[in-house]
Amino acid sequence: MQKQNSHIVIEAQAGKETEPFLMPFLQRLLLRWPSLIIFLFGLSCVAAFAFVPTNDVPTKIPTTTLTLALDLPPKPPLLDDVLADEPTFYWVEERIQRGDVIGNVLSRAGLNDPEVRKFIVSDPAARPLYRLRPGRPLRLALDGQGKLHELRLLLSPEEMFMIMREGDTFKTQTIIPEREIRREQRFGEIRSSLFGAADAAGIPDAVTIGMANILGGEIDFYHDLRQGDRFSVVYEMTYVEGELVNSGRILAAEFINRGNEYSAYLWQSPNSEQSGSYYNAKGESSKKAFLRAPLEFSRISSNFSPARLHPLFKSKRAHTGTDFAAPTGTPVRAGGDGVVEFIGKKGGYGNLVILRHAGEITTYYGHLSRFASTTKKGKRVKQGDVIAYVGSSGWATGPHLHYEFRVANKPRDPLKAVLPPSPPISDEYKELFLRQVMVMQEYMQLARDMSGITTIARASFD
Ligand SMILES: [Zn+2]
Repeated sequence: MQKQNSHIVIEAQAGKETEPFLMPFLQRLLLRWPSLIIFLFGLSCVAAFAFVPTNDVPTKIPTTTLTLALDLPPKPPLLDDVLADEPTFYWVEERIQRGDVIGNVLSRAGLNDPEVRKFIVSDPAARPLYRLRPGRPLRLALDGQGKLHELRLLLSPEEMFMIMREGDTFKTQTIIPEREIRREQRFGEIRSSLFGAADAAGIPDAVTIGMANILGGEIDFYHDLRQGDRFSVVYEMTYVEGELVNSGRILAAEFINRGNEYSAYLWQSPNSEQSGSYYNAKGESSKKAFLRAPLEFSRISSNFSPARLHPLFKSKRAHTGTDFAAPTGTPVRAGGDGVVEFIGKKGGYGNLVILRHAGEITTYYGHLSRFASTTKKGKRVKQGDVIAYVGSSGWATGPHLHYEFRVANKPRDPLKAVLPPSPPISDEYKELFLRQVMVMQEYMQLARDMSGITTIARASFD
């Protein structure tokens, strides 16, 4: 009988048998005034005494079950505990602004602690606080009077500087902050531009540019994009202390360009130290021997299109390459691995770089404003290396890159270049890779399913 009574108390706490509207009230009541429980319990004991034959009554009242009953609900602090406890702290975050000195930031955050100010000014250990970078957050744990308990300043993604109160003095420490990697998946549809679609989908620029680089062997992101092209992308965002410090490692991308589907999945062999490379859904390398657009892709260069490029080359016959309109100074990248064969001025090309590649292939980069300091005749370059910068030298009225692809000195389409492809995923890992592809495809499907958001956002851009 005793046991049964205390059991009822537990169930009431757990919210199983009491009327729902009564529960919050009961919980609060029981938590705020534990004595009430004891009182209620006392009542039940009285009841027990009243209805149970005397020989059934235990000589000692089992109070342990009551303690259990109190442990069940989520516990707001008991008033007595709060009063008895050490002073509580609250965290304040203040962003570093341009021209800030540490004193300003501390005042803005509400610090009222002459001791720590003295420590910061006089102790060399506090010197990292003089390396303020605008935009970074400074976090302070203060007590009710504005006295410092702890200070945290992210100096870089790898260093967090801390000041902690230790009795009457302060201790400093620089630690490696914890990183948190979050995965995101997004879907976009092109209405006006790739960056417009990326903005509407909430994709960071680094990811958009990364996607253009990964698929840059198959899609010319300057000329090939069309309204209605669709893409899905899965990528990582690295946060330190709640701050986004790095976005961009792309895990998977799928791009439907003019009805053709291209995809790339990041693969890193389990035993490999390398950062991994991209493969299509079949496990073939996404790396092509030549880039379709040998320019550093950016928001600015992708939106740049002067009305007329080549008033001097009106006929198709005379014009044997591809023109990429881009602002002067846009980095020009090596279309493929090769050797610098020519660097200098040459007639209508103006400033020109010619690279020689395997298989009698040469690439021409004309109208440059200047060359990269590392570009020297006879030097090896890797695909994607910056070799020069866009300009309008030679026969060009507007800044653009003139890119030519030649096989045995005859202009050709770089897509049709026959070169040995990069090796596919090895048989050993094929199955593991395909399983990973399936997981990524599910994420991308998820992004497409959620693209209702994209549709709403789409209406708002020009
Ligand atoms: Zn041209």
